[in-house]
Amino acid sequence: MGWRGTTSTMLNFGEKDGAKAYLIGEPGKGLKYMFHMMNEARIGVGMGAVVLGYAGYLQALEYAKGRRQGRPVDSKDPAQKPVPLIEHADIKRMLLAQKAYVEGGLSLCMFAASLVDEKRTTSDEAAASEADLLLDVMTPMVKAWPSQYCLEANNLAIQVHGGYGYTREYQVEQLYRDNRLNPIHEGTNGIQGLDLLGRKVMMQNGAGFDLLVARIKASIEEGQANSTVQPYAAQLAAALAKAIDTTQVLRQTLHGGQAAKALANATIYLDLMGQLVVAWLWLQQALAAERGLRSGETQDEAFYRGKLAACQYFFHYELPKVYQHADLLTSLDTTCLEAEEAWF
Ligand SMILES: Cc1cc2nc3c(=O)[nH]c(=O)nc-3n(C[C@H](O)[C@H](O)[C@H](O)COP(=O)(O)OP(=O)(O)OC[C@H]3O[C@@H](n4cnc5c(N)ncnc54)[C@H](O)[C@@H]3O)c2cc1C
Repeated sequence: MGWRGTTSTMLNFGEKDGAKAYLIGEPGKGLKYMFHMMNEARIGVGMGAVVLGYAGYLQALEYAKGRRQGRPVDSKDPAQKPVPLIEHADIKRMLLAQKAYVEGGLSLCMFAASLVDEKRTTSDEAAASEADLLLDVMTPMVKAWPSQYCLEANNLAIQVHGGYGYTREYQVEQLYRDNRLNPIHEGTNGIQGLDLLGRKVMMQNGAGFDLLVARIKASIEEGQANSTVQPYAAQLAAALAKAIDTTQVLRQTLHGGQAAKALANATIYLDLMGQLVVAWLWLQQALAAERGLRSGETQDEAFYRGKLAACQYFFHYELPKVYQHADLLTSLDTTCLEAEEAWF
C-alpha cells in the first residue's frame, strides 16, 4: 500500500542444512532482552508517524492558503470573490486538529527520547531508574498514539485538499499510504494496548503508572498558578482522576482473575491514556508559550498564539474523549468479548 521503492527482506532459517542459533544472555530472558531494543524502535515508529503527519499538515496549510473556494456563511454576495479555504471554520478545524496531533505527537516522542538520554547520561542512579521506569510505561503510547493520530492528520490533510488530495498530483495521498504502516508494525496498536494494561501498568505493583501520575500532577500544580493556563490544568486534573479510577477498576478485575474481561477493551484504555498524556504535554507547551508571550518576544507572537490555540483545540475537542472511554471501561463492557463468531 505504501513505502513503494523500499526493499523488504524476508529471512528464512534452516532451509538448507538446518540452522544454528546462538543464545544471547541467560536462557528464558530473551523477550526481556528484546524489549531493550524494542523500546527505542517504538519511539522511532512514533517519530516516523509524526514526520509523515507533519509533512501532510504543512502541505494542507499551504494549499488552504492558496486555493479560493466558497464564501463566508454570512456573506452570500455572488459578486464577492471566493475566499481562501483557510478562512472557513471547518478548514481551520481540520488544520488545528492536524497541528494538535502532530505537535502533540512530536512532544510525546521528544519526551520519550529525552528519557532515553537521561537514562544513559545521568550519573544519578535514582534518576536513571526513574527515567527507565517512565519510559517503560510510556512506550506503548509513544508507539501507538502518533501512529493513530498522525495518520488521522494525514487523512485530514487529504480532506483539506478536496478531490485533489485523492490524486497523485499532490503528495498527501502518498503520506497517508506510507503512514498507514505505523499502527501495524513493531507491535500492532492492539498489542500495545494489551502491553500497556496487562504489563506496564501492573509492573512493580503499579510503580510506573504512579510515577507518570506524579509527573502529571506536578505540571497541573504549575498550571494552576498561571491564570491563562489554569482552566486547562483544572481539566487535566479532572481527567487524571478519571484515569486513576478507571485503572483501579481494571487492576482489581485483572487481579480478581478476570483477565479476559479486564483486557477486552485494552485498546480503548490505550487511547484514554494517550489522550491524557498528550494533554499533559500540551499543558506544558501552553505554559512555555505563555512565558514566551509574557517575555515580550513580539516576533514570535503568532508562534506562541498558535501553540495556545492548538492546546485549546486539544482540551476542547480531544481530552473529553477520556470520559466516554472511562465510562465504557469501568462498566467492564463485554459487547466485543461476548460476540460470537456465528453472529458476524
Ligand atoms: C510494510 C511492512 C514492512 C514490514 N517490515 C518488517 C520488517 O522489516 N521486519 C519484520 O520482522 N517485520 C516487518 N513487518 C511485519 C510486521 O511487523 C507485522 O505485519 C506486524 O507485527 C503484525 O503481525 P502480523 O502481520 O502477523 O499480524 P497478526 O499478528 O496476524 O495481527 C492481525 C490482527 O490481529 C490482532 N491480534 C493479533 N494477536 C492478537 C492478540 N493476541 N489479541 C488481540 N489482537 C490480536 C492484531 O492487533 C492485528 O489487528 C512489516 C510489515 C509491513 C506491512
